[in-house]
Amino acid sequence: MSTVLETDEHRDLRAAVAALGKRYGRDYMMSVVSDGSHPRELWAEAAKAGYLGVNLPEEYGGGGGGMAELSIVLEELGTAGSPLLMMVVSPAICGTVIARFGTDEQKRQWLPGLADGSLIMAFGITEPDAGSNSHRITTTARRDGSGADADWLLTGRKVFVSGVDIADATLIVGRTEDARTGRLKPCLFIVPRDTPGFGRSPIDMELQAAEKQFELVLDDVRLPADALVGGGASHSGEAENGGGDAGLLQLFAGLNPERIMTAAFGIGMGRYALARAVDYARTRQVWKEPIGAHQAIAHPLAQAHIELELARLMMQKAARLYDDGDDIGAGEAANMAKYAAGEACVKAVDQAVHTLGGNGLAREYGLASLVTASRVARIAPVSREMILNYVSHQSLGLPKSY
Ligand SMILES: Cc1cc2nc3c(=O)[nH]c(=O)nc-3n(C[C@H](O)[C@H](O)[C@H](O)COP(=O)(O)OP(=O)(O)OC[C@H]3O[C@@H](n4cnc5c(N)ncnc54)[C@H](O)[C@@H]3O)c2cc1C
Repeated sequence: MSTVLETDEHRDLRAAVAALGKRYGRDYMMSVVSDGSHPRELWAEAAKAGYLGVNLPEEYGGGGGGMAELSIVLEELGTAGSPLLMMVVSPAICGTVIARFGTDEQKRQWLPGLADGSLIMAFGITEPDAGSNSHRITTTARRDGSGADADWLLTGRKVFVSGVDIADATLIVGRTEDARTGRLKPCLFIVPRDTPGFGRSPIDMELQAAEKQFELVLDDVRLPADALVGGGASHSGEAENGGGDAGLLQLFAGLNPERIMTAAFGIGMGRYALARAVDYARTRQVWKEPIGAHQAIAHPLAQAHIELELARLMMQKAARLYDDGDDIGAGEAANMAKYAAGEACVKAVDQAVHTLGGNGLAREYGLASLVTASRVARIAPVSREMILNYVSHQSLGLPKSY
């Protein structure tokens, strides 16, 4: 793939990560899945090379880069068949939120570990009765006592939260009453894995992925005052600028990186599937020429390639805007990139499976399970329809039906 929005350093990073991914590849990831374990070895090696914290500040052990670099890492690992889904959550969402809004103590406690991969953080926003409508979130935090040092008690339910079993903590999105207005406002809490009252049960997914999804029950989970990200918005410059809605700003700060990384995940998986199909179509011969000579096979593969390239361009634009500090511009581009990548991924995987005929469904070729996996890029973290809604309202100014 050619790149116009990347520097020589980016290209070197791509090549180095691609080489690492190639050493692991899909066979490694599938053996991890069948063992029910985690891609520890790949995670550790990527961490050691500095890839997992490439977006985090240098003073906390990160690479000092941004989403442009982190998305390259995930895309290339995915292209090799071994994506690390927790990169979407741990360094991208949680690392970003803490780096931008955490108290000095939270930064000291979490960032070096998130940057060197020794700590992992999950992210929980989805609720069973809220789903796409995050305004309906009911997970609620209340103070146990008065004063800024009082503990928090967090109660609620979450679903589909990835990697809670391997995460040292989960960043939970809840609501708390604004002391001034009495209104419920969003807030983010760091909940360590083994906190009493923080229950998790795995959801039985059809997905063949190393990362499991969990339903979470938070039953009066007692957290110290400093579990609130930003410590009530008085310790961080950005949070102060956000006035009373610091929690909302914190949340949005994490969502653009999440969308950019989901785009990288989709593009990587799409490229992986497309490459398998192209290899097959070049050599599989049942008539005079290999099947790739038939335009009915070649054109949809060419289309898939074009659509993945276009999605990547939008992802690069979103990453550039985000890294330049344009959160609003990045919001639109990150949504569009996630949409484009999700659609390109689903189509590339579908065409790849079809290109292999019966072998597309044979376990040996490893493509059929991607049919399910590719749908993740369309559904999560925000569905195709919710992005179309966003573009209808925000970009086109059309009225809202809900
Ligand atoms: C593999 C996987 C990993 C995940 N990991 C995490 C995680 O780590 N943390 C986390 O918090 N969540 C996670 N999620 C949850 C994910 O973000 C949600 O599934 C997603 O936001 C959709 O919510 P929902 O499933 O409740 O669907 P719903 O909101 O119930 O939507 C169902 C359908 O209705 C459509 N729809 C809903 N509202 C509208 C509307 N207004 N207009 C048009 N169509 C609409 C949707 O597009 C969708 O097609 C994960 C999900 C999966 C599948």
